Amino acid sequence: MKLSGIWAAVLSASVAIGCAVTTVAKAEQQEAGRTTDNYVLVIHGGAGVIKPENLSAEQEKAFHSTLKAALSAGQKVLQNNGTALDAVEQAIRLMEDSPLFNAGKGAVFTHEQRNEMDASIMDGRDLNAGAVSGVSQIKNPITLAREVMSNSRHVMLSGAGAEEFAQTRNIPLTSPQYFKTEHRLEQLKQAKQRDVIQLDHSKNTDKTSAIKHGIGNDDPHYKFGTVGAVALDKHGNLAAGTSTGGMTNKRWNRVGDSPIIGAGTYADNNSCAVSATGHGEYFIRATVARSICALMEYKGVSLQDAAEQIVMKKLVDMKGEGGIIALDKEGNAALVFNTPGMYRGIVGARTDAVTAMYKD
Ligand code: ASP
Repeated sequence: MKLSGIWAAVLSASVAIGCAVTTVAKAEQQEAGRTTDNYVLVIHGGAGVIKPENLSAEQEKAFHSTLKAALSAGQKVLQNNGTALDAVEQAIRLMEDSPLFNAGKGAVFTHEQRNEMDASIMDGRDLNAGAVSGVSQIKNPITLAREVMSNSRHVMLSGAGAEEFAQTRNIPLTSPQYFKTEHRLEQLKQAKQRDVIQLDHSKNTDKTSAIKHGIGNDDPHYKFGTVGAVALDKHGNLAAGTSTGGMTNKRWNRVGDSPIIGAGTYADNNSCAVSATGHGEYFIRATVARSICALMEYKGVSLQDAAEQIVMKKLVDMKGEGGIIALDKEGNAALVFNTPGMYRGIVGARTDAVTAMYKD
C-alpha cells in the first residue's frame, strides 16, 4: 500500500534521517567503534479488519497509548546507545504484557482452550536467531526466544522442552491462568460455532479452508493481533522480533509463521529487518520476511518496493492476508499491509512517536 497523509510524512522523515548519515560515513564510524546519532524503532500489534466502526473511542485510546508505551520502552534503549536487540525485546515485552494484543497475556485460545505461544528474534549483525513455539507457561516468550539465541546451541525449541530450558535460564514458569482473558474465550466460542456451520455445509474443500488448517479464521472481523518490532540502533545494527498466540481455534499444536525465521521474522545488516503479522500458513509458504530482504540483497530493490512486491502482490495473489513492518540499514521504514488496518507505530532519533491503526 502507498502511504499518504501523516503516516507518509512520518516515513519520509525517517527516510531523511536515513540520508543524514551516508553509508560510507556510517561504515567508518562503525569501524572506529563509534556510534551515529541515528536510530529508528517500528512496531506492530497485528493486522486485520481494523476499521473505525469496529472500535470504540475508548478502545482506540487504549491501543494508541499501549503502542506509544511500547515505542517509548524501545526508544529509551536506543537513545542510551543500547542495541537494536534490546529495543526489540523491550518493546515486545510491553505488548506481551498488555491484554490488548494476541501475545503473552491476551493470547488467543486453541481448540482445546489453551494458550500456546510462539516467538522469535533475530540479530542482523551475525544472523544469529532464536525461537520458541507452543509454550504455555512463559510470561514473555520473546525473552525466552532471545535466551535460545544467546544461550543454547539451537535456533528453535518447542513445547515442554522449551519450558524446561527456560528454567535452566532462570526464567520462571507462569501459571497458564495468567494468559486467559474473557474476550479471547468469546472469540474461541464464536470460531467454534463458525466451524460447525462450515462442517454442516461441507463447503471447505480448497486449501484456504479454516478447517483444513485446524483454525477458524473466516470471520470478516478477524484481527491478527500478533506483536512485532524492528529496530536500527546507533551502532548501525538491525534486529527484528515477533511474538504471538497464533490463531484462534488452532489445533494439533499448529505453529504459524511468527517463530519461523525467514517467514515471520528476519534481520540482516546487509539488507533489512522484518516482522510480519497475518495468516501464518501463507506467510510460511511465501517466506515473507526473508523474501523481502533477499529482494534487497540480491536484486538491489528498495525496501518499500520489496515489501510491496511480497505483501501486495505475492501474498495477495495467494490470498494471504496480513502485513509487515521493516527497516533497512539507512533507517528507511516500510509498513505495508493488505488488510483494512494494522496497529503500528514508529519513532526515530529525529521523529516523534506516531501510532496509527487504520488505512489512511
Ligand atoms: N501470524 C500469526 C500466526 O499465523 C497470527 C497473527 O499474525 O496474528 O500464527
